[in-house]
Order: sequence, then C-alpha cells, then structure tokens
Amino acid sequence: MPASWLNRQLMFELLKKDTATEARLGLLTTAHGVIDTPVFMPVGTQASVKALDPRELDEMGTQVILGNTYHLYIRPGLDIITAGGGLHRFMNWSKPILTDSGGFQVFSLAKIRKIKAHGVEFRSHLDGSLLFLGPKESMEIQRVLGSDIAMVFDDCPPHTATAREVRAAVERTIRWAGECSVQPRAPGQLVFGIVQGGSHQALREECAKAITALGFDGYAIGGVSVGEPEPEMLQAIEYTTPLLPANQPRYAMGLGTPAQLVELVARGVDMFDCVLPTRVARNGTAFTRKGAISLKGGGYKADFGPIEEGCPCFACQRFTRAYLRHLLNVNEILGLRMLSVHNSHLFLDVMADMRGHIAAGTFAGFRREFIANYVPSRRVLAARKGVHPVDEERGEAS
Ligand SMILES: [Zn+2]
Repeated sequence: MPASWLNRQLMFELLKKDTATEARLGLLTTAHGVIDTPVFMPVGTQASVKALDPRELDEMGTQVILGNTYHLYIRPGLDIITAGGGLHRFMNWSKPILTDSGGFQVFSLAKIRKIKAHGVEFRSHLDGSLLFLGPKESMEIQRVLGSDIAMVFDDCPPHTATAREVRAAVERTIRWAGECSVQPRAPGQLVFGIVQGGSHQALREECAKAITALGFDGYAIGGVSVGEPEPEMLQAIEYTTPLLPANQPRYAMGLGTPAQLVELVARGVDMFDCVLPTRVARNGTAFTRKGAISLKGGGYKADFGPIEEGCPCFACQRFTRAYLRHLLNVNEILGLRMLSVHNSHLFLDVMADMRGHIAAGTFAGFRREFIANYVPSRRVLAARKGVHPVDEERGEAS
C-alpha cells in the first residue's frame, strides 16, 4: 500500500531521537493542526475539560484534547452534535481532538448484557436503556463527531483479569481492530490501533504484531492505568514500545503523574491523556514539580505564597495558597477552577520542558533532576514496596 505509506510518512515526522534514552521529538499533522510531541492531552470527557474553558486551555498551550465516544453518544447524542456542526463546533474548540472508542467505558461503567462477535450489548449507566456498541458503531460515532484521531474499539480488561481473560480480550481486540480498519472515516481522520495484553509479555507481543500488521496511523498502549502498581505499568510499556513502528506516534492511554510522564517519555512514548490534573483539583490537590500537595491542609492557612513558586499560570500569578485554601474549604467554584488551571498548566509545561530538553540534547539530565526532586504519592511509593493501599489518585478514565 504505497499511498497510505506515503500519507503516514507525512502525517508523523520524527524530528529527533534522544541518544541517552528512548525519548523522541516529533510533529503529528492532523486535520485541525500540527501537534508537537511528546504531548499531554487534557481530558474533555463530556465535550468539556472539567472547569476550564477553551480560552484558558488555549492560553496554557493545550494542543489537543480528548473527547469520549461513550459519554457523547449517550448524552447529548449524535443528532444534537451533528446539528451543532460536529464536535469541534459544538464545543467551540478549533484545535485537534482525539476521541476514545468507548470500549473502556462499556467494559467499566455500563452493565454488560452480552459480549457478542461484533460488539457489546449493554445497558446505559444512566437510564438502563439497552444499547449496542462494537467496532462498526464506534467508528461511525467517531466519524460523526469528526475527531482528528479516532481510536479502535478494543476490549480493555481490568488489572484483576486472569491470564485466560486477558487472552480472550487480546483476541477480541485484534478481531475488532480489523473491523475498525475498514470502516469509513471523517475527512482527514487518523485511526490509531490499540495493543492490549495486560502484564503478559507474550500476549503483548502477539497483539502488537497483529495490530501493527493492520497498518494504523499510530499505536496506543492500552490496558495500563487499570489499577496495576507502577512497576507493572512501566514493564507493560517496556514490553510494548519496541514492538511498535519507530516512525509512527505511540500513545500510552490514561497516564499518568508528572513523574510518570517523564519516565514514559524516556521509554519512547509520544502521547498521553489523564484525568488527574482536573480530577484531583476537585478534592483540593495541587500538583507541583516536587509532588502533589493537599491545599486544604491547615499548614496553608496563612501561607501567602503561590501554589508553586515560579509558576507562570494564572492561578499562581494572581492568588495565594491561603486564599485558595479558603475557597476550597467553603466550596467556592473559583477554588477548584484555579487548581484545575494550575494543575493542567503544570502538566503541559512539563511536556514543553521535555520537548525543549530533547531538542537541546539535555533530556537525560532533566529526567534525573526531575525524578530526584519529585516525591511520588503514597500509593506509588507503597506499590514500589509491594503493598497495594486504596488511594484517591487513580488515573482511570472518567
Ligand atoms: Zn501555577
């Protein structure tokens, strides 16, 4: 297929590969603009990045956001989005959008009635109505939404799945990817394949081989951020990245904390999405380059410094920790909005720093210093020691 091969070469340009790590610098061209990679994609599940407006997203350097097929299909429904001129116009976002396939939500949120050969029959988590989503339906919804990057419909089993269940999910994922690859697309829409296989190296290999053979525009590593401890997540990424074509974009789904983003870029991943920046903001947690802090704590009662010294974001330029703590404690919307601004800004800034350092050939030093300064959450620390406490900072898709 020389024509599609040519398109693919033009679609993703690998500008530089770091010499000391697997980090890569690239340009991903989509129908709504060019994306500098590595890139972080804020999550706009319900056609909105929670608490942030498009102007703020634009000002903090957002290049691409994620929209959610399952949620948008259920509400407001495709009729309304079609009448509104497609997802970009409906939500007034003119830059690139990636849509997930809805598979993750069907398997995690909905009440599944039956998994069939060509999709899943399930009941809506909202009103219990009977719905069906499979490769054909998912690609059609994403075509109508008009996203720049569509994801194939896959089966993403939880961390607790048995080896036999993961194998069944891999087989289904491969079959469904084949069905997705031949469905109609929106003009200029790219389609990414997804590699499943959990923490099983052989299954990851088998899945990567079959999915890359189908010839997608980019490849995602799925089945990470599904409740597994950090070392297992990193290992699944390490199993998978060498199996993916070097000249195409690689996307780790649903990850991660700032320190994890640095470690994953060092392992050759180009694209990320995560609900963490806006989700933890809603319970008063701010990310900094030294780790996450809970601003509701009494220690910040009379702290008149910014959330993070030197941060150029609107919240840090205008407001003090003491004031934001007060807003959070009396449930003022401005408090969680400003934490969402700061957290999202930080994630985007860390990505911009990494791009700068890869370009300058100084990424390895940046990584070393960043990781040395960053104090991971209790959950991550506990997982490194082999225990699994319940924690609020899960990065699952909403
Ligand atoms: Zn800030």
